[in-house]
Amino acid sequence: TNSPLDEKDLVIIGGGVAGYVAAIKAGQEGMKVRLPVACIEKRGTLGGTCLNVGCIPSKSLLNNSHMYHQILHDTKNRGIEVGDVKLNLANFMKAKDTAVNGLTKGVEFLLKKNGVEYIKGAGSFLNENDIKVELNDGGETTVRGKNILIATGSEATPFPGLEIDEKRVITSTGAIALDKIPETMVVIGGGIIGLEMASVWSRLGTKVTVVEFLGQIGGPGMDAEIAKATQKLLKRQGMDFKLNTKVISGDKSVGLHSSTPCIVALVFPICRMNTNLSSQLNADVVLVAIGRRPYTQGLGLENIGMELDERGRVIIDSEYRTKIPHIRCVGDVTFGPMLAHKAEEEAVAVVEYIKKGYGHVNYGCIPSVMYTYPEVAWVGQNEQELKNQKIPYRVGTFPFSANSRAKTNLDTDGLVKMLADPETDRLLGVHIIGPNAGEMIAEGTLALEYGASTEDIARTCHAHPTLAEAFKEAAMATNSKAIHF
Ligand code: FAD
Ligand code: NAD
Repeated sequence: TNSPLDEKDLVIIGGGVAGYVAAIKAGQEGMKVRLPVACIEKRGTLGGTCLNVGCIPSKSLLNNSHMYHQILHDTKNRGIEVGDVKLNLANFMKAKDTAVNGLTKGVEFLLKKNGVEYIKGAGSFLNENDIKVELNDGGETTVRGKNILIATGSEATPFPGLEIDEKRVITSTGAIALDKIPETMVVIGGGIIGLEMASVWSRLGTKVTVVEFLGQIGGPGMDAEIAKATQKLLKRQGMDFKLNTKVISGDKSVGLHSSTPCIVALVFPICRMNTNLSSQLNADVVLVAIGRRPYTQGLGLENIGMELDERGRVIIDSEYRTKIPHIRCVGDVTFGPMLAHKAEEEAVAVVEYIKKGYGHVNYGCIPSVMYTYPEVAWVGQNEQELKNQKIPYRVGTFPFSANSRAKTNLDTDGLVKMLADPETDRLLGVHIIGPNAGEMIAEGTLALEYGASTEDIARTCHAHPTLAEAFKEAAMATNSKAIHF
């Protein structure tokens, strides 16, 4: 069935974090007063990768696997005696689904509340103004947009020659939904996805080996000193690492036992460029976590001559405009870190550009959090980046082993590290590994955003006993001397 052309103030393709936040903001900005806003999403639920198969389900599994692991291994010394502890994997997954369903339905409610039309279907450009939507329930419709926002996100980068079946060769999507605990797992890529998923399954009993091409884990942005400390702690939890090692091929047809087909991943130490030194790793499951790539499949970009860069990203200017000025683009499908909160900031800014002509995202001040145990979090620049740019800096650190709350909680692994300008004392970067690092980094982000000096932080009263005192004391150590270390 074809409905008549219906021009909207704004048509958004993709109902992920970028798309749905832009839709809500556009509704709030009154775009619905004249003409409504439409958000086209083909998944069947809103929230995109983040809510459905990314941030939210992975954090449910991380939280509950940590709890399970702690009950098994970290209660006796706290005077708690537990009996027969069992994991019910089906219910463990159900808890994750409850969180996901609650949140995706909540987003649908918010779109309704803000006057946004939610069109369930796959959108593609017919021309520069008209979007054809193949409706999930059958049939199609066409929507015309005065402004159009591309927010189609990203997908896992496949590993050449190793076909993904989401059961034995998996991406993160398979890794959040396995129906039994594998005995062994090889993780290709020691970035954030690799380490978060390795943490979940290793805590549930899987023997995990992480193979990483670079000399350090953590993916782009993590401070080398913090990455080293993180690797040591994850190794202590039972994970194995092969750094400076590239997986060059894989073969899932090889079965060592007929009952459990094994996958062989061929690994190759980069520092010794001799094929004779390559070796094989066998595992029940291989997780491919070598990064994500922009997703524009089926979008009909060829019909409007839209340009992509060499990595498949939609090319935009500083106001999120593509070369066709009324078509803009935000989130994972364009430049910048692939993070939900970055997509959200851009979504608000792009609507402000459309509506008011100005908007703002501070790309130097976007925090990163890896939800392993302990968590790793950072904002601003790291030591390697400052060195490479020949920017002088001063370092101050404070270990959680000297923090009263961490000691009280018997949870003392990790440290807070601050980097500051040696002349002006302006904060340049914060890097934390430790309990609650993901919450604590908000304070660092605020300080960086407001151009604080480490003395400003050191002179700010922090409640006692809190982990946040370690943040204050790291600032004292950068500025002059910490009290408790
Ligand atoms: P997406 O969330 O990918 O949304 C795009 C949407 O567009 C999708 O739902 C897709 O179905 C839809 N779409 C695509 N093409 C069309 C079309 N033609 N028509 C209609 N609809 C279409 N980030 C964090 O900040 N914190 C985390 O803890 C975190 N954890 C993650 C864990 C995992 C396992 C993964 C995979 C990612 C994680 N991320 C995390 C990254 C985060 O999910 C992304 O940065 C974020 O989802 C990007 O939002 P987006 O809206 O740009 O894209
Ligand atoms: P990534 O880029 O962070 O890490 C991929 C790693 O794989 C790199 O370290 C790379 O050196 C390595 N690699 C690539 N090819 C290899 C090979 N052949 N052999 C061995 N190692 C190889 O990508 P990711 O971990 O897949 O994550 C994708 C995106 O999702 C990232 O942008 C990340 O920020 C985002 N994400 C964020 C969170 C979070 O914020 N907590 C969680 C999950 C995902």
